[in-house]
Amino acid sequence: MKETDIAVVGAGTAGMTAAIYAVRAGFRVSMFEGYMPGGQIVNTGEVENYPATGRISGFDYSTALLRQAKEAGAQYVAREVLSVKRISGGFELETAKEQYFAKALIIATGAKNRELGVEGEKRLTGRGISYCATCDGALYRGREVAVVGGGNTAAADAEELSRLCSKVYLIHRRATFRAQQADIDKLRAAGNVEFLTDCVIREIKGEDKLSSVVVENVKDGSVRELKTEGLFVAVGQTPTTALFDGLVERDPAGYIKAGEDCVAAEGIFVAGDCRTKKIRQLVTAAADGAVAALAAAEYLGASSAVR
Ligand code: NAP
Repeated sequence: MKETDIAVVGAGTAGMTAAIYAVRAGFRVSMFEGYMPGGQIVNTGEVENYPATGRISGFDYSTALLRQAKEAGAQYVAREVLSVKRISGGFELETAKEQYFAKALIIATGAKNRELGVEGEKRLTGRGISYCATCDGALYRGREVAVVGGGNTAAADAEELSRLCSKVYLIHRRATFRAQQADIDKLRAAGNVEFLTDCVIREIKGEDKLSSVVVENVKDGSVRELKTEGLFVAVGQTPTTALFDGLVERDPAGYIKAGEDCVAAEGIFVAGDCRTKKIRQLVTAAADGAVAALAAAEYLGASSAVR
């Protein structure tokens, strides 16, 4: 079994920041990621609200952060963690290839896209239905598309698509948005974004590929069929935390319960979007990463916490 001091599960902003801080506190750190390093932000076209970076693509931001974590001395393990078990003195982590022993665990597994839950969604995913405007937007250049959701992701997706597509329908189930007002104002000014508020998608139509979506206005009951070959679903995330069932407490939505100290259980720390908290942003994920790493360092008895 390979040994490390701190295992960080997940290499998004929270995990990579935790790795940097934990290494700088003097510990051996192994950071596990089963997919692409960077987490959700990899799929974001442009990050505009992270301090001092200016405008940066999600991919460039993630690449720079991974480089920084590796240069600091964190070991990057490009493998999914399949199970985690508490054993004497720490934790046993299993990947498809190896087992690791870690004295402390930092969970930074983030969240994944929530599905809309409308009949036909699964069948037509990848055939007109997408969860990533940055990845798939270019496929709909010059065409009409729809975005569903009312948060920052939906607003960012609609903005990105409005630059590529002839028209964007923004479908949201309420009259007000969770997205930042400045971004909604930008969309209103774009000229090719039509807001369908108080509207829900009742039907998704298409055999081999999406042909239209049927939208109902829940206030006045009117129904409209939008002929569109592209529907971008941006209705939030669900946390990726099932792996830690039994080790930590989770809230009804699946987020791991921990306060601002990021302590979830003895020797277990949780950082980023998978933690119970109000604001899920890059900057709060990074902050969590630092807090969780320093809490883990304190737990393991670091003599000097920050370098
Ligand atoms: P979100 O803030 O949870 O918003 C999800 C939206 O989808 C809400 O407007 C919600 O409606 C709607 N929704 C949920 N379930 C639905 C359903 N079944 N049918 C129709 N609509 C549904 O999710 P998000 O926009 O993905 O953002 C997630 C987190 O990442 C947020 O904290 C956000 O601020 C952050 N984020 C940050 C940045 C950035 O830093 N630049 C960029 C993107 C996202 P209701 O409003 O009615 O609940």
